[in-house]
Amino acid sequence: MNQLKEFPCPNCNSELNYDADKSKLSCLHCNSQFPINIEKTVLKEIDINSFKTLMFQEEKDSYQLDYNCSKCGKINTVSSTLSFFECENCGNNVINSSAYQEKKVTPQGIIPFTISKEKAISVFNDWIGKGFWNDSDLKKMSLIDNLKGIYLPFWTFDCSTFNQWSGQSGTHYYENEYYTDDKGEQQSNRIQKTSWSFKQGEFTHLTNDVLITDNDEIPQNIIDEIYPFHLDELLPMDECFLLGWNAKTYQSKMEECYSLYKDKVKEVVTSMSIDYLKDDTYSNLQVSTTFSNETYKYIILPIWYCSYLFKGKSYFFIINGQTAKVHGNKPLSTSKIALAIVLVVLCIAILLFLNG
Ligand SMILES: [Zn+2]
Ligand SMILES: [Zn+2]
Repeated sequence: MNQLKEFPCPNCNSELNYDADKSKLSCLHCNSQFPINIEKTVLKEIDINSFKTLMFQEEKDSYQLDYNCSKCGKINTVSSTLSFFECENCGNNVINSSAYQEKKVTPQGIIPFTISKEKAISVFNDWIGKGFWNDSDLKKMSLIDNLKGIYLPFWTFDCSTFNQWSGQSGTHYYENEYYTDDKGEQQSNRIQKTSWSFKQGEFTHLTNDVLITDNDEIPQNIIDEIYPFHLDELLPMDECFLLGWNAKTYQSKMEECYSLYKDKVKEVVTSMSIDYLKDDTYSNLQVSTTFSNETYKYIILPIWYCSYLFKGKSYFFIINGQTAKVHGNKPLSTSKIALAIVLVVLCIAILLFLNG
């Protein structure tokens, strides 16, 4: 059952959008603004067993749904996985509640966008402008059309771990090694040596909010670069935050996400174990980790993303829609690099000439 909802402006019947600058619903037509009355609450942690069950349950297939626009009569055909779309003829805003509701899990929480498109563009311009090696032609290019604000799905995991570690701890010491030189005089060298001792121990470690994305567009290692999100700002999920923004449902890569979260936790406890074991150096580290009290939440988070082609190569940048932290790769200016190489070669030639 499709649940398509429109949010007309009560004053002029035009469409409302969620305004990231004002954290309100606003009407671009008559400039009316409407506050969103949603209080922060602590979201419920769900026991991991239900997540493990979900891993092996089939999701409903996506399908195409028809929307007959109430404003212009146009019949739009869109994917059932889109939580928000605009009428392709008149731009009327439509929330598709069934996109989230037809999945096995619905989002519990959302961090609404606080970075508007204008801010995202200025963040990008600042970032691309930095660095001598950047290709200045890029600044002239308009990337605005490719820039997309999207709410992406995330699983966030909590757990407690009990860790037992052991290994060889190495401490450096120095000894003098004596020898006789060409002139028959005794000389010495200071030699670093290592004494090894077996060490072991155990510790418990609590981990909160390991964030793993479950989307098919932007890989985890790229999203890692724009962390952290301030999850204390999470609000209970409300559809009105989606008005005017793209939003994706999760991809059901649950097994992958679950093992990725465990890997991230293991990385942390391994580095803690190294700190316990290591004196000057260490070897043969063994860590055994037992997970308990595992819980999860399903939330959606705001991200600005743009991928583009420039002089035949593909580039991207990504902005945290809550904090404006930016990451990406930039085209380097080949002419500036060529000039630098010429200058270096020239300097070497001059030095060789002067020394010759
Ligand atoms: Zn209005
Ligand atoms: Zn329309």
